[in-house]
Amino acid sequence: MASTGTPNPPGRFPAGARAFPHRDLTGIAQLERHEILFLLAEAEQWVEFNRRADKHCDALSGQTIINAFFENSTRTLLSFEIAGKRLGADVVNMHAAQSSVKKGETLIDTAVTLNAMRADAIVIRHGSSGAVDLIASKVDCPVLNAGDGQHEHPTQALLDALALRHALEARGEGSEDFTGLTVTICGDILHSRVARSNILCLQALGASVRLCAPPALMPAGVEAMGAATFADFDAALDGADVAMMLRLQTERMSGQFIPSAREYHHLYGLTRARLDRCAPDALVMHPGPMNRGVEIDSDVADMLDRSIITRQVEMGVAVRMACLDVLTRRGRAVPGWNDGQWT
Ligand code: ASP
Repeated sequence: MASTGTPNPPGRFPAGARAFPHRDLTGIAQLERHEILFLLAEAEQWVEFNRRADKHCDALSGQTIINAFFENSTRTLLSFEIAGKRLGADVVNMHAAQSSVKKGETLIDTAVTLNAMRADAIVIRHGSSGAVDLIASKVDCPVLNAGDGQHEHPTQALLDALALRHALEARGEGSEDFTGLTVTICGDILHSRVARSNILCLQALGASVRLCAPPALMPAGVEAMGAATFADFDAALDGADVAMMLRLQTERMSGQFIPSAREYHHLYGLTRARLDRCAPDALVMHPGPMNRGVEIDSDVADMLDRSIITRQVEMGVAVRMACLDVLTRRGRAVPGWNDGQWT
């Protein structure tokens, strides 16, 4: 299938706005609402495509994508790799453990090296907030942020939005955005790039966001992002339409933030009884990896009618295909795509 993209429905774009004028995707913070909706619309075509028996096209034939992962990843790396390959690109994975970073090379030297290999897009995961922006400023090709420290994980927020939209549509409640929806994000907000990107994305799409965490894991001043904050999980769940659970990011913790996993589960674990505090039919989300029995119980994570955790993984491939396709259009000189929009 050739990628034709989704024509811009004229009414959806503010006068003079372009569909996607950016070279890079480093965060949701850089995106306007119509740009988020545009990427989601682009991703829809790949959802259908990925359900076909033949899942290969040559939209990115001849393009080289480097997945440079300086931090461990299972689903994000695999998802970007599958996305690139289904689009027909040559995909190369660089793991920090096998790279010169371990030999003391600076981030800038690594960026310059990757650039010299003439990649057509670079996907980066890094443990430091801001590292992806730094690399983006040193290379000539589009850069996609696959998670940088505690900062942002934009494709996770986009795939979460797409999974939520599909789950609501399946119930006949679908609409373009999430106006009227209340989403409770609970867990280690302090160390979570997923939370940050989701607060921005969900609010841009009209949802009300509640944040819940033990006081030590709630970032100071996060209310300024427009979300309501709670220390009491039961109160945070009251009537919510979605419970999005987060992992305790122990690899980013310096010191003791919680007394014990057992106590954390007692106060902040999503149990069947707690789910009943939400709106009837409330949905359950988790970006993975899950720690069952800590932030979420198995009987909630595996509820077929309420948990959309595997749908999130499915939508991840479609969203990453859309992002790779859109960001490489300029370099591929795709007919009809000029300066960030279809003409
Ligand atoms: N996979 C997500 C991330 O990379 C969430 C997590 O690791 O808990 O941030």
